[in-house]
Amino acid sequence: MTTNGDLLGRYGHALLGVFGTPALVVDRGEGCYVWDVDGKRYLDLLAGIAVNALGHNHPELVGAVSKQVGEVVHVSNFFTTRAQIGLAEALLRAAGAPDGSRVFFTNSGTESMEAAIKLARRTGRPGLIAAHGAFHGRSTGALALTAKAAYREPFEPLLPGVTHIPYGDPAALAAALTPEVGAVVLEPIQGEAGVIEPPPGYLQRVRELTRDAGVLMIVDEVQTGIGRTGDWFAFEGAGIVPDAITIAKGLGGGVPIGALMTFGPEVSGLLQPGMHGTTFGGNPLACAAGLAVMATITRDGLLEHSARVGEEFADAVRALDHPLISGVRGRGLLRGITLTEPVAPTAAARAREAGFIVNPVAPDVLRLAPPLIITGAELTTFVDALPGLLDAATS
Ligand SMILES: *Cc1c(COP(=O)(O)O)cnc(C)c1O
Repeated sequence: MTTNGDLLGRYGHALLGVFGTPALVVDRGEGCYVWDVDGKRYLDLLAGIAVNALGHNHPELVGAVSKQVGEVVHVSNFFTTRAQIGLAEALLRAAGAPDGSRVFFTNSGTESMEAAIKLARRTGRPGLIAAHGAFHGRSTGALALTAKAAYREPFEPLLPGVTHIPYGDPAALAAALTPEVGAVVLEPIQGEAGVIEPPPGYLQRVRELTRDAGVLMIVDEVQTGIGRTGDWFAFEGAGIVPDAITIAKGLGGGVPIGALMTFGPEVSGLLQPGMHGTTFGGNPLACAAGLAVMATITRDGLLEHSARVGEEFADAVRALDHPLISGVRGRGLLRGITLTEPVAPTAAARAREAGFIVNPVAPDVLRLAPPLIITGAELTTFVDALPGLLDAATS
């Protein structure tokens, strides 16, 4: 029989080592559960890092993708398809985008950020501002916006002109808005930094400052978008209209797709015919997946659902009143459980042994980003197990 151990040995001899040794060899999934090749079942509280919005083997996603495969998978961007147009319209509606707004499809969050960087360059001002703690991707452009030194330094020099400022500090932004700056790029909640929310009013203040300075405000919704925080997009909670947003992760429910959305005719006019492109971006297979995800979120009320079960989950974890838990951050179904000691990696390993997939996003933060279809009862099984997992992580 092929076991996790055998396959991971083969992995080590075949795959480039950038991800280290994976924890599991996953065989299949159903709903919010996955099984490894040894037949062990796990409650998937990470959903492929905020990707599998409808969980695993969801009939709507399977049906839509299967149907599209049998019709047409790829047509090039010399042509378009019903699926591509339909998904762009659905995204514009979901975002409440003003007239003249447009969508450019990509295959990943990183590519969405690259498109956003090119959009920003078209202001004629090459400077970019991003935040400490920011994660925007790993290509040499997106990496220049990403803050973490360990990711950046082996590859320098990167795209020049990027300034990193403290997240959540409007005065720091005001001071950094020099005449060279074309755009400010921010996550509405910093996912990779440990599910960090800015102080109330921050995004509104950023909108005012960027509008006054004539600088683009680009919101990276790659992790927070598509219902993750209980709204279609996290910027909605701030009552602002950014100039552009980037999306990816949850949009295809696991099928690779991303997008840059440009808001209003002026910003949308910055990228003219021939200025940007992609072979796979916007292909009908990925767009059919995106349409199935968005239609199912709407049909099943998953925005309200993720807001409600996410809040109930956070309350239940706080009510544990466990000495190792200092708090719960985030919104909807993007959550960080903060710990009083740096035991998140050990706690995540104990959780995996007990059949729960969670992510130690920082030494003292456990991140959860489960499928939007997860039930309160499924979340409760983890809440009930959590005190024991934390105790086992420190003993
Ligand atoms: C994951 C992520 C990215 C990069 O997306 P990829 O699909 O991995 O290229 C960019 N920004 C944010 C906020 C992310 O969470």
